[in-house]
Amino acid sequence: MKKPWKVTVLTLFPEMFPGPLGQSISGKALGHQWDLETIQIRDFAGDKHKTVDDTSFGGGPGMVIRADVLDKALDSVTDLSGGPLIYLTPRGCPLTQNMVKEFASMPHLTLICGRYEGIDERLLQKRKPLEVSIGDYVLSGGELGAMVLMDACVRVLPGVMGSDASLEEESFQDGLLEYPHYTRPQSWDGQDVPEVLTSGHHEKIRVWRRAQAEKITAERRPDLWAKYVEKKK
Ligand code: SAM
Repeated sequence: MKKPWKVTVLTLFPEMFPGPLGQSISGKALGHQWDLETIQIRDFAGDKHKTVDDTSFGGGPGMVIRADVLDKALDSVTDLSGGPLIYLTPRGCPLTQNMVKEFASMPHLTLICGRYEGIDERLLQKRKPLEVSIGDYVLSGGELGAMVLMDACVRVLPGVMGSDASLEEESFQDGLLEYPHYTRPQSWDGQDVPEVLTSGHHEKIRVWRRAQAEKITAERRPDLWAKYVEKKK
């Protein structure tokens, strides 16, 4: 039997996991399609106070996670070579659905969650993790970023979502945002469901949905729209 997709998370707050990933779709798949391991970085501190951080050379507010402590924590990861080592950081490459699909296709991910001002640069120079950001804002720690990345990956693992068709049609597939959805009641609050969706005419529905997806993408995300138009040429 195929081994489940595995994620190892290095963190100062292992008790935050699985957190929301223990619920709903990802929660049901946990222990089946995917496995989660957490490593407490503090366990690798050398002194009796279990110190993991220190002040920043050059001055300035905030503490920095020590390279030597995190390096030892990384040495303890058994299957580090089974997939990418990722550091969640606002300095990183913005996470996209294509990256998510690539990560989900690898057997193992190792995620480093920073805290405070981040990690001593020398650790990054030595280990050369892939630096990934979940958006242009600053979180207090990498744990929520790691959860966002894992959630996005878990739902594209084979067998996790009820129907693979829902993955094929959602946002970012084909470079477009998704078309609008409607459900019962057919008439609500003075608004009716667009007639085409109740016509039963599959081709007309497909064409309407594609036109809606294009309109929404052009209006809301000119960056995605420009790429889509370029690709279609
Ligand atoms: N001093 C850092 C800077 O200005 O780039 C911010 C450090 S932040 C307070 C602490 C940790 O949260 C980071 O080391 C990183 O692991 C995580 N983090 C914060 N924002 C993030 C984001 N947008 N994406 C991914 N991780 C983030």
